[in-house]
Parts: sequence; structure tokens; C-alpha cells
Amino acid sequence: MEHDAHGYWLRDAGPHEALPEASGELDADLLVVGGGFTGLWAAWELARLEPEARVVMLEAGRCGHGPSGRNGGFANEMWFSLPTLRERYGDEPALAVARASAAAVEQIGEFCEQQGVDAHYRRAGYLQLSAASAQDGVWSEAVAACAELGEPEAARELTPEQVADICRSPRFRAGAFYPYAATVHPARLVVGLRDRVAALPSVRVFERSPVRRMSGGAWGVSAETPGATVRARSCVLAFGSAANAAGSPFRGRLTVTSSHMAITEPVPELLEEVGWTGGECITDSRAMIHYLRTTRDGRIAFGWGGGRIAYGARLGGLTEVDASVVDQVLADLRSFFPGLEGRAITNAWGGPIDVSPTHLPVVARVGSDRVFGAFGYTGNGVGPSRMLGGILASLALDRRDERSRLALVEPDPARVPGGMAGWVGGNAIRAGLVAKEAAEEEERVAAAIHRGLARVPELVGVHIGR
Ligand SMILES: Cc1cc2nc3c(=O)[nH]c(=O)nc-3n(C[C@H](O)[C@H](O)[C@H](O)COP(=O)(O)OP(=O)(O)OC[C@H]3O[C@@H](n4cnc5c(N)ncnc54)[C@H](O)[C@@H]3O)c2cc1C
Repeated sequence: MEHDAHGYWLRDAGPHEALPEASGELDADLLVVGGGFTGLWAAWELARLEPEARVVMLEAGRCGHGPSGRNGGFANEMWFSLPTLRERYGDEPALAVARASAAAVEQIGEFCEQQGVDAHYRRAGYLQLSAASAQDGVWSEAVAACAELGEPEAARELTPEQVADICRSPRFRAGAFYPYAATVHPARLVVGLRDRVAALPSVRVFERSPVRRMSGGAWGVSAETPGATVRARSCVLAFGSAANAAGSPFRGRLTVTSSHMAITEPVPELLEEVGWTGGECITDSRAMIHYLRTTRDGRIAFGWGGGRIAYGARLGGLTEVDASVVDQVLADLRSFFPGLEGRAITNAWGGPIDVSPTHLPVVARVGSDRVFGAFGYTGNGVGPSRMLGGILASLALDRRDERSRLALVEPDPARVPGGMAGWVGGNAIRAGLVAKEAAEEEERVAAAIHRGLARVPELVGVHIGR
């Protein structure tokens, strides 16, 4: 098994040419910092809305080599977040966000088709299920909210028998089905998107061009990379978990944790045996979620959101390659599918997760009205980044439209405890949650200390779980 930071998808997508580094003095109308899904969709939308506007994108490494090119490839809408959206914003604004997120999943498919990007887009739906009695019915509030707000088709409950019709596992119980979700090959999508964005006449994309310093004023913004200074009228910050780095205007508004994945060799006969041939993406209902999907060539990709918390936004190390967390991933995968005994796991990898305290992504304005940023996808960014990219483009162009009015545009995003205390406390809570949920999976009552630690986020107003 190869275990590294970048993992299977980027390798499977094949080599792709590096774009040039930024150099010299550059002028633009709009600057995009960060070349993951959020920045790339923002650039795509900027060029669509104002084809004459000059856009510069600065990416620290290679576009899509962060989480965007190495995630699970679930392109989900936000119907399962409807209760949280309602609680935070009220019924109508919540509905508007959920509908826009569903449209975003569709738009990704349209993009792939129209632009000839073969990102293995498959709209087969999302199954959220229970793998322990403590998880039973976690989805009920979301299913009820969809029905109450007039979208009963967006989510429906499934009996254990109906779950087994989709996929059989000794671990699976009842669940809920969200039919509009899709899966993608994340690296093929992000590289295809990068290439389409870079080919636009008004957009210049630079790789290996980290922004080290930014300043701004009434005239606009200026960003410095090791080789260039870029001046622009307006700016989009789409730098993922670096939103929590020192110097970021969003520091203290998110926590950076990590998620780790593994993928099997092709096992099409096992998929036949368990009846999982429909391409649905699946999660259990833990806070430290397990997520699993199949690939076009019959592999199972399996991940766990139980990785450690990074200090600040520090990447590398255990945030990306964590042998003990991956050991747990492999043990969990095999417990879901005992038929994998003796079958090869070919790759494992990991990456940072930008967790917002509301578990909802955030679009925020920085100081003046010229700089906007997005962060906090909390492990659900592939679909929503299409929507947030559009919101950022509308805001940066000062359009007062349906997108810039969506409730996710937060005047004052919620805060999380930071610094050493936040890191130590966060890791203690993580350890408590991991132990509590492991006990629940064995139908044991967790130790009081672990139950206590797992309750801390709720007590301090931090939302945990979908
Ligand atoms: C293992 C794993 C599994 C996941 N599974 C799923 C899933 O199945 N479905 C789902 O919806 N989400 C999933 N996610 C989350 C998803 O990948 C992210 O929400 C999404 O990719 C966020 O995109 P982004 O563009 O905002 O950030 P990123 O992909 O992090 O991109 C940000 C970019 O900004 C660049 N950058 C940072 N600082 C600077 C700087 N100073 N100057 C210039 N550039 C900078 C970085 O190099 C990076 O390329 C998963 C994440 C991981 C790690």
C-alpha cells in the first residue's frame, strides 16, 4: 500500500503540466488567492459574468493538489444540513441555500458535459445510514425539515431492508436517502476545471506562487509572492484551511482537523455480492464520520473524519500522513466489508478539513467591501464550492443578486477558541468523541469521561455532526 499526502486520485488522473510562476508587476481587476475548487469556480464565474475583467489567480503549490484533488469525491447538496440552516437563518433563507446547493451539484454535471471534462460524474444519490443503535434516526430531523418546507423529494427514510437493497453490510441498519447527490473523480474534476479556467482569455493562473503578504486600501489590494506583486481592484480569498493561518483575516473562525482515506484494488465481484452496483455514496452517522463510495473500475474508497487537529493551520505531518489513523481506517473498512479479507488496499492518504463552528460554510467580507473569502466547508466542499464560488464572484463584482443575498454571507462569522488552549482542548474532545463512538459501535456504554468530553462542543455552542 502506498501511503502519502496526495493519494490515489491525483496519481490516477495522470501527469498534468505545471502552470508558470507569477513574476514581476501584475495588474488585474480581480485577484483570486488559492486554486482549489472554491478559487477555480470563483474564477470561472468571474469570467462568465464579466468576460472583459482581467483575473489573476495565485496558487501556492499546484492547483487542486490540496484537499480539492484528494477528497472522497462526494458532491453533495446541503439538504442534510437543513435543520442547522433553519436554526441559524430561518426557514426561507435556509431553503434558498439548500436549493442553491442542489443546483450546484447539477451545475457541476453540466460543466463536465459542456466542457468535455470526464470527471466520472455520477448522480446516484447519497445514503446516510446508521452503523450503531446510537446513530439510529440521526437523519429524522433533516427528513422532516425537507417535508415541512415543501421539498419531500429531497430526503426520505429507509428501512434496514431498503438500505440492504442498496448495499449489504453486517454494520448497516436503517438510513435516509438524498437522491440528488453525485460522485466525481475529484482530481479529474479539479484538473479539468483548472485547464478550462487557464484557457479563458481574461484569466491568468499562476502556480507555485504563494501569497506572503497582502495590503489594501481605497484603491484596491496588493499581494506579494516571492516573485511578483499583483495589484487588483477586488480580491477573493479561497485558500482552504490556510484561512486559519497566522495573518489570515479569518483566523479564529475555524478549526483545522484532518480526514484520512484508503482505496482498494478493483473488487467488482464483491460489489456485486453486496449489491452495491448503483454508485451511491454512503456515510454512517457518527460525528467522526465514515464515508464510502465506489469508483468506475469497481474499487471502494473509504474515509474517516477522525483525524487529529492541526495546530493553527499547520499542514504536512500527521494532518496528511498519519499511520495510526489510517490503521483505524483500514480496520473500519474491513469491518464494513468482511469480504475484503485478502484483497489489496492500494493507497492511503489524508488532508486538512476546515471546520466551522456552525458546520456550515461561510462567505465573509474583509474590512472594506473589496475582499471576500470562503471557508468552513467542514468536509462537504465539493458540491457547495460550486455555489460559494458563484457567491464570491457576485460579491467581488458588486452584484446585488440572488447569490450575494444567500444567508451564508455572514457579517460576523462565529468564533472558535484558538491558540494552544484551543488545540489541546480540541484534541481532548476529539479523543473523547473517538472513544465514545467506538464504544457505541460495539453497543457498549462509553466511559463517563469520554461522554463528558464529547458533550463539550454542544455546551460551548459548537455544532458537531451533519
Ligand atoms: C481526505 C479528505 C476527504 C474529503 N472528502 C470530501 C468529500 O467526499 N466530499 C466533499 O464535499 N468534501 C470532502 N472533503 C473536503 C473538500 O475536499 C474541501 O471542502 C474542498 O476541497 C475545499 O476546496 P477549497 O478550494 O476551498 O480549498 P482547498 O482545496 O484547500 O484549496 C485551497 C488552495 O489554496 C492554496 N493556498 C493556501 N494558502 C495560499 C497562499 N498563501 N497563497 C496562494 N495559495 C494558497 C492551497 O495551496 C490550496 O491549493 C474532503 C477533504 C479531505 C482532506
